Amino acid sequence: MKITVIGAGAAGFAASIAAAETGAEVVLLERNDRALKKLLSTGNGRCKLSNVKLDAKRYHGDIRFVESAFNKFGLKDTIMFFQNMGIPMKREGDKLFPYSLQAASVSDMLRLYAEDKGIRLCTGVEAKKIKTDKGFTVITNQGNFACDKVIVAVGGKAASQLSGGGAYHLLTALGHSKGALMPALVPVKTEGTKALAGTKTDASIAMYDKDRLIAKENGELLFTEYGLSGPPILQLTAAMPRESGCELVVDLLPEFDSKHLLAILDARTKLCVPIEKYFTGFLKKTIGQAVIKDAGLKNTAPASSISRADLVRMVSLIKERKYKITGTQGWQQAQVTAGGIDTREFDEYMQSRKIPGLYAVGEMLNIHGDCGGFNLQWAWTSGVIAGRHASQK
Ligand SMILES: Cc1cc2nc3c(=O)[nH]c(=O)nc-3n(C[C@H](O)[C@H](O)[C@H](O)COP(=O)(O)OP(=O)(O)OC[C@H]3O[C@@H](n4cnc5c(N)ncnc54)[C@H](O)[C@@H]3O)c2cc1C
Repeated sequence: MKITVIGAGAAGFAASIAAAETGAEVVLLERNDRALKKLLSTGNGRCKLSNVKLDAKRYHGDIRFVESAFNKFGLKDTIMFFQNMGIPMKREGDKLFPYSLQAASVSDMLRLYAEDKGIRLCTGVEAKKIKTDKGFTVITNQGNFACDKVIVAVGGKAASQLSGGGAYHLLTALGHSKGALMPALVPVKTEGTKALAGTKTDASIAMYDKDRLIAKENGELLFTEYGLSGPPILQLTAAMPRESGCELVVDLLPEFDSKHLLAILDARTKLCVPIEKYFTGFLKKTIGQAVIKDAGLKNTAPASSISRADLVRMVSLIKERKYKITGTQGWQQAQVTAGGIDTREFDEYMQSRKIPGLYAVGEMLNIHGDCGGFNLQWAWTSGVIAGRHASQK
């Protein structure tokens, strides 16, 4: 069985290795001058390979066959897959990293293992078109590749500087449908964060679409010139229904309820300090200054002059400050693509229902996961399932 895999990213390597291990002759095409460019940037260079809380509920889009896919190739299989390659995993919280904590080591071992399995990796080869006549021919900038089956693993539009920005046309030209695309796991633009730009603080953030709570996350929030970032914000965008219009409600002191915080702030009015020092020792300086300014208080007045109404206003500013999302930081800063190729047109082996022998895997499908190793896990799972299936006669 001759299989051409298009795209030497995480999903393309998983598919190639699985196909070669089950006896197929595999050619792996990559448009970049080297394979696995995006993988090198994952997890800040440490590569979150997977997550021990693997669950179909952590995925978004059209997730009709995600659960059955994990039954075919799930967490334990993934751990064994890497173990066989010489990559034991290390757990940090729920996340699984390579034991070396280096994405580069995963990239090296995938390439060496693929070479050992006889996979022919061709870099600098960009697939332009797939022709379906007596098998398949992949037309590229470096000539044509004839084969029995094709696995398309060209990734999505996110971080296009690393992967080319999504060669969806390879499938749409064959009659497959593509839904709208949106950057996900991405910082968001909002008004009103400039004064706090550069400040990091633990917070609880809820995202609302009109009055409907979409999701809530806790973690280290980062204020920036353009808006908000940090792990909880990236995570919230995994479930964001559209690029602008949703509202974030930020609680900067989630460990205290409003009543308790009011009592704490009331007690602080007894401090013999000017208002500009009222939060010193309790809140970060930038946050304290912003709350005082937004509550309309005068810095030089004594803390004892703060009224009950001022206290209530400050509690609200600390516990439920609202930020309207006006957009995202776009494709270059997105970690993953929401939307993509319509999964209804593919079966549970990632094979096209329209063109038998044609498969699509990884980020290009309309499936994306939460932060924390879920997206690479989808690349491993979908790639291995397609590779194994494609290698069968
Ligand atoms: C900064 C960053 C950090 C991330 N960190 C994590 C993490 O720690 N854990 C996690 O689970 N996920 C992480 N992700 C997401 C994860 O990297 C992706 O979900 C995953 O790489 C998708 O794999 P893929 O193989 O489908 O696509 P890709 O990895 O994008 O691979 C697609 C490949 O196809 C090639 N290609 C494209 N078009 C063509 C063509 N026409 N011909 C030939 N080749 C082509 C591309 O050059 C690319 O090499 C991160 C993403 C980013 C951007």
